[in-house]
Amino acid sequence: MAEIRWEEKIEKALSLGAFRAAVIGADAVVTDAAFRDICASNRCGLYGKCWMCPPDIGEIDEVMATLQTYTRVLVYQKVYPLDDSFDMEGIRDAKKDFTKLIQSVKKAYPDPSMLHLGAGGCGLCRVCAKRDDLPCRHPDRAVASLEGYGINVSALAASAGMKYVNGQNTVTYFGAVFF
Ligand code: SF4
Repeated sequence: MAEIRWEEKIEKALSLGAFRAAVIGADAVVTDAAFRDICASNRCGLYGKCWMCPPDIGEIDEVMATLQTYTRVLVYQKVYPLDDSFDMEGIRDAKKDFTKLIQSVKKAYPDPSMLHLGAGGCGLCRVCAKRDDLPCRHPDRAVASLEGYGINVSALAASAGMKYVNGQNTVTYFGAVFF
């Protein structure tokens, strides 16, 4: 089997626009089924409204068990400045930009045996086809969220040597590729 160059994967993520990137062991990823309850509280409005969000991505125990089948994780983050903490347009633009970054990373690592996870809902379509009860428009590009898989993103950031919060008037998004 060809040697995997993890350093190259970090450099690749950085070259695609990530602010920071690191590779950690999959056993360092902290999960908690309680994150599913947060999704179910539907503060984001996407619960049951996106094919890549709960409950459609599968039972929490099943998706958490999937993570244990991987050995390494490329974690990456991008930090966006906001005008202030009420800058909803800035947050929306940041999410759009981060969705593009996730897609660039996915394009760089298209092997279907790898699991790509991102921030919040899939975000690829303006309105997910799930809302019209239609099949996913881009099943090969759609990405579920870290939280949907029960991942503690704050702990993930710490494991990867990154800050979860990057100062006042900023928003930080995280993505990960499980190898
Ligand atoms: S690609 Fe589009 S239709 Fe498919 S899950 Fe994502 S937002 Fe929904």
